[in-house]
Amino acid sequence: VYILAIESSCDETAASVVKNGREVLSNVISSQIPIHQKFGGVVPEVASRKHVENIASVVEMALSEAGVKKEDLTLVAVTHGPGLVGALLVGLQFAKGYAFSLGIPLLGVNHIEGHIAANYIQYKNLTPPFVSLVVSGGHTFVVHVEDYDKFTVMGETRDDAAGEAFDKVARALGLGYPGGPKIDAAAKKGDPYAITFPKARFHEDTLDFSFSGLKSAVLNYLNSERQKGNDIHVENVAASFQRAVVSVLVENAMKTIETKHLDKIAVAGGVASNSSLREELKKRGEEKGVEILFPEMILCTDNAAMIGSAAYFQYIKGKRSDNSLNAVPGLSLGREA
Ligand code: ATP
Ligand code: MG
Ligand code: FE
Repeated sequence: VYILAIESSCDETAASVVKNGREVLSNVISSQIPIHQKFGGVVPEVASRKHVENIASVVEMALSEAGVKKEDLTLVAVTHGPGLVGALLVGLQFAKGYAFSLGIPLLGVNHIEGHIAANYIQYKNLTPPFVSLVVSGGHTFVVHVEDYDKFTVMGETRDDAAGEAFDKVARALGLGYPGGPKIDAAAKKGDPYAITFPKARFHEDTLDFSFSGLKSAVLNYLNSERQKGNDIHVENVAASFQRAVVSVLVENAMKTIETKHLDKIAVAGGVASNSSLREELKKRGEEKGVEILFPEMILCTDNAAMIGSAAYFQYIKGKRSDNSLNAVPGLSLGREA
């Protein structure tokens, strides 16, 4: 089964050819990060326009790098949500036209299910059930992955997403966009115990997260230090903030492992590249005999290979979309549109 997968939900135009769900033959990503950097975040209209400019050549490149002819494709898979509606529509319309002209089926994929599926590419023997910690720019979930197409959300954020918190705090520290990698790097030179910030937990007895209180605490700290005329120790703030985020992510993922009696945590989404999250989870995993899985960096942030993998496992169960497939900006995990 050769799947052409297309991803355009946010600020990367991406296409990939994936063989049998786990073998990536090409993974082309045209990132708009340098374009959006000027604005300190993604500008939706600009993103849509760039997707239109790039999509045809990105798809051509994915096919030629894979050495696969159009006629050999089995299926066209495309992200249809969640994401920016204008951005999603560009990929969706292109995918529909492509599938129709080749006379092959089309399948809409949930972007978050794609992030989780990146682990199937990285770990060829990984099969459900497992726990997934999804930490991306727009979402934060602890998920019980019961089957390739069965997800139970155990905990989620009540306000900001983890990546969003990284981006906002980075901006307040003057570190630039996207903030996650910048905080990660600065934190390596700082003391994580220098400042005590509140934990990013919603409530003691749920697995839900809350990052906005932590973010405000960091902003208040910066304001009051600046008012006092004190210099800000950027590395210490970054390290202390990161510790507060990471500790709750690790805690809630480990709690889910216990309640569901599972032995694997597969981390997914852009924040999965965070080095402190990787270290802390591995440490706790070793203590508790829990296997900790991370896709390589290029599979953590947005890409189309992960969409091709997610599509494969649904395709072999007989799932198809028809030409009425629509973009669903608020598509939730494990739900049909
Ligand atoms: P979503 O998948 O929820 O729709 P998205 O596609 O924009 O959102 P991703 O591409 O999965 O999100 O991830 C981007 C996010 O990951 C950004 O918020 C970025 O700051 C964060 N990120 C990337 N690298 C790191 C890192 N090393 N440490 C922390 N955060 C990181
Ligand atoms: Mg992105
Ligand atoms: Fe994403």
